[in-house]
Amino acid sequence: MEHSYVAIPPTAFVGLSCIYCNKMAEPHDSGTPRLLSRCHRCRRVWYCNSDCQKAHHSEHKLFCKTIHSVDASNDPEVIQQLLGPFRSTSNATTRLDEISVLHRCQIIDLYQRKRPLNKAELYLLSCEPRCLGCAKTDNVLRMEANLSGQDRVQTLKPCPRCMMVFFCDGHRSSEVDLHRDTSSDNGFASECNLSRQIRLDSEFRLLMPSPHLHMWRFIPRQDIWISLKGLSWDAALSAPIRAALPTDTSVEHLAGCLRLVSCLASTVMTVLYALEFCLGPTVASCSTLTIHVLGARAEFTSAVTYMYEAILHRLPNVKNLHILFCDNLGGSQGHVVKDVVLCKDCQNSSAHMIHEYIDHAYVKHLSRGTDFKAPDLCILMNGYIANHETDLWSETIRLLLERGVPSLFTANDALYARRDCDLLCGLGARLISGLTLASNPWGSLASDLNLDTLYGFCSANKWLVGCFS
Ligand SMILES: [Zn+2]
Ligand SMILES: [Zn+2]
Ligand SMILES: [Zn+2]
Ligand SMILES: [Zn+2]
Ligand SMILES: [Zn+2]
Repeated sequence: MEHSYVAIPPTAFVGLSCIYCNKMAEPHDSGTPRLLSRCHRCRRVWYCNSDCQKAHHSEHKLFCKTIHSVDASNDPEVIQQLLGPFRSTSNATTRLDEISVLHRCQIIDLYQRKRPLNKAELYLLSCEPRCLGCAKTDNVLRMEANLSGQDRVQTLKPCPRCMMVFFCDGHRSSEVDLHRDTSSDNGFASECNLSRQIRLDSEFRLLMPSPHLHMWRFIPRQDIWISLKGLSWDAALSAPIRAALPTDTSVEHLAGCLRLVSCLASTVMTVLYALEFCLGPTVASCSTLTIHVLGARAEFTSAVTYMYEAILHRLPNVKNLHILFCDNLGGSQGHVVKDVVLCKDCQNSSAHMIHEYIDHAYVKHLSRGTDFKAPDLCILMNGYIANHETDLWSETIRLLLERGVPSLFTANDALYARRDCDLLCGLGARLISGLTLASNPWGSLASDLNLDTLYGFCSANKWLVGCFS
């Protein structure tokens, strides 16, 4: 069983869920979760019990060995590389982020020299717990204790409330302002609250009958188009969610369900929102729609692609919906075209939905001359285009502009939105106001850990980078 990039819940990085079976740790009587037992060798994964550890052994052993051989190394050069980033005097938060990113790059580089790591392993290493006050990991604390000849090795302790972030003995959750601060980017919640929400959401996801959630039933088929302008997730979906769940569902579970649906439906609702901007009121009378979805391999999981049926549910006049998916890297599954089985209501109104996956870069698709038919909308979600494969994306954007393809770009945090927007403007895009550098009302309500900060958050499609048509 090979874990995919997205299949590892964030609780697995902090000892609250089993890396093998994903089961959550049982809570103490007090309600706080009890940590699972850690692999003693690599100290990067946790298990329910020895059965899970045994079952995971064949998949884990090479990773475990690689990590251990670097962590236990006495080589002064290795030690210098691992501790170097922490031997800096400044301790400001912005510096901490740089230190943690630098340290992460150094360790991954050292491990990769032993053996190439797969995506899931890299993800696991990137999410290794660090002290929020100094960015040190358990291994750094251990190496420092060894070097100074101390017998007692301290370990990181989780914040007792959220259990998702960590502190060394020198730093405490109550002392680190950042963790209590409620005036952060997110406005409404302290980091502790958001971390706790991420934990509760992963518990909630494990309770849901995944992976085929068919969450689109929470976006019921309606008779007429209702504008998405001025609407919110809560206004659009709270009632159908409440109607679909048992009446005794707790308020916390309703909120969790809304966050989960928003996470899965974010791209499709953003598509509808942008179509309304680009097409105006005529969006309501469309009978045929073609949408091209670019980027983010993780988005192409079945739970998310099924969500595109929501377009038919909110635009009941659409009879033919064609969605083309392209991850721009040349997908591994080849060229696939499939007629998706729709719900009874959609079948009765003789609607059809085709999903097409192409196995080459979108640039090649755009370059097909007269064979290329512009879609009604091309969306690139959660881009990072200014940071990753920038040349390829620049070429793609140039062709999108040249061919007048209505295109929308989203990002999952403000910093990347700004960078990606600069790239679009630099390439001469004239961006539609209202869809440019704005917080997206149809961004996911569920937060994820942001790997580019020490402990920060991002959410799918949270920001609208820009749109041109
Ligand atoms: Zn387990
Ligand atoms: Zn191990
Ligand atoms: Zn610390
Ligand atoms: Zn906390
Ligand atoms: Zn349907």
